[in-house]
Amino acid sequence: MKLDADIRAQLQQYLQLLEGDVVIKVSAGSDSVSRDMLDLLDELTGMSSRITVERAELARTPSFSVNRPGEDTGIVFAGVPLGHEFTSLVLALLQVSGRPPKVDDEVIERIKSIKGEYRFETYVSLSCHNCPDVVQALNVMSVLNPGISHTMIDGAAYKEEVERKEVMAVPTVYLNGEFFESGRMTLDDILNKLGVSADAAAFANKEPFDVLVIGGGPAGSSAAIYAARKGIRTGIVADRFGGQVNDTLGIENLISVKHTEGPQLAVALEEHVKEYPVDIMKSVRAEKLEKKDLIEVTLNNGAVLKSKTVIIATGARWRNLNVPGEEEFKNKGVAYCPHCDGPLFAGKQVAVVGGGNSGVEAAIDLAGIAAHVTLFEFMPELKADQVLQDRLYSLPNVTVHKNAQVKEITGSSKMEGITYIDRATGEEHHLAMDGVFVQIGLVPNTEWLEGVLERTRMGEIVVDSRGATAIPGVFAAGDCTNSAYKQIIISMGSGATAALSAFDYLIRN
Ligand SMILES: Cc1cc2nc3c(=O)[nH]c(=O)nc-3n(C[C@H](O)[C@H](O)[C@H](O)COP(=O)(O)OP(=O)(O)OC[C@H]3O[C@@H](n4cnc5c(N)ncnc54)[C@H](O)[C@@H]3O)c2cc1C
Repeated sequence: MKLDADIRAQLQQYLQLLEGDVVIKVSAGSDSVSRDMLDLLDELTGMSSRITVERAELARTPSFSVNRPGEDTGIVFAGVPLGHEFTSLVLALLQVSGRPPKVDDEVIERIKSIKGEYRFETYVSLSCHNCPDVVQALNVMSVLNPGISHTMIDGAAYKEEVERKEVMAVPTVYLNGEFFESGRMTLDDILNKLGVSADAAAFANKEPFDVLVIGGGPAGSSAAIYAARKGIRTGIVADRFGGQVNDTLGIENLISVKHTEGPQLAVALEEHVKEYPVDIMKSVRAEKLEKKDLIEVTLNNGAVLKSKTVIIATGARWRNLNVPGEEEFKNKGVAYCPHCDGPLFAGKQVAVVGGGNSGVEAAIDLAGIAAHVTLFEFMPELKADQVLQDRLYSLPNVTVHKNAQVKEITGSSKMEGITYIDRATGEEHHLAMDGVFVQIGLVPNTEWLEGVLERTRMGEIVVDSRGATAIPGVFAAGDCTNSAYKQIIISMGSGATAALSAFDYLIRN
């Protein structure tokens, strides 16, 4: 396999940035993936004298590890890391050679503090846009901590292993041989899941804030920027910076930005907040809010933050169907992100539950990949925009069941079918199905405010036109509120409104 000229040129440029020697150990056979891998490694050694390749016995063949001379880092690529994983390869080479990863010092310290042995394995596909983030995060952890190792496994090169483990979503991560997590994850998400969040002591002596923002999505980021620009003491607590935009790909309605992608926007939000003196507290969750002299917010690590005003911007998450089988077959057929997991259902029978815009869009997308798409809508009519419905009904491989209640998702070791009730006749039906995408809307992340703030029946925080809640000094913005529509630009606008209102409140009080 010869690299194409573009990739070759890019590699050549990147490899000039190597800071030290890199030793690649390769375990190859006579199969075609092994041959492609050896060709790629030949190209690498031909481009940089800092890279040497030696034969070795690794756990998987074909695979290769990327090491410092005399010290294995634990970074292994099982498969040929091209496609979306090309960047993962380049970054691994640079970081192993000594170039520091672009990660906050505080995060580096957290990674280094992890004790014990953590053997991660990530199943990817080379066309998966969510996989490189996970691969790169785990590689950074392997570079920084000798107790951590990580193997990227290309599912296409390890079909038998993928089928044996019934991996039905990428990226899927195993830790020490056990399922760890599936789907897009940032480094913060992984550290959170391992329970390595910033400890309370790090927050013990913080002075009270003027404005404390809870949530780091579009609403929270916008609120923090607007507050900080007033020159007041601003903090932001974000469980997962970027929020929901992390889970989407193409964004084409952020006015003046013709096209961007979710992960790119998430990074841009954080970078913009960092332009200002905002105290950013990532990977921690707010669990309690109390109004005393100041407003006190208790975090999941036990720390208590105090502030004169608080802006709640905790957004929303996918709504579950809450039927038998949903939990059991999550990532074994039950999926929520068509952009992410759609390609895994190529040529298969899939269902979409939900006839709103997101459900119908998902069905249209999936119809281009799957053999057949069956859409279930609970109500007698679809709620999606007419243009989307027209497009849906024009597709030959889509069936729509309206007035249909999904009752159960069935299967054995993975999902195999859906049982639904025809609400008009009360009859129960069963369809064989390889996957189902649940697209029935969002739930606001406001459970932690139960009994503290007024919320709608749906759990949305009730705000007035200035973003004020029923508690003086507490404001809310974005998808966690009863705002009419849930969109990025609307969240950003309401974050700005809430910050200006908080500033106004501070001046008056
Ligand atoms: C798949 C998908 C595609 C979309 N496509 C588009 C699109 O093309 N255009 C568009 O305009 N909109 C789109 N949206 C909607 C858009 O993403 C949301 O409207 C927007 O992200 C809402 O911003 P937010 O800041 O209110 O909430 P979120 O984005 O949900 O952010 C919430 C933040 O709060 C944090 N958080 C939650 N609970 C806590 C807690 N207890 N403590 C601390 N932090 C917490 C989260 O980690 C996150 O940082 C899409 C949404 C999805 C899911």
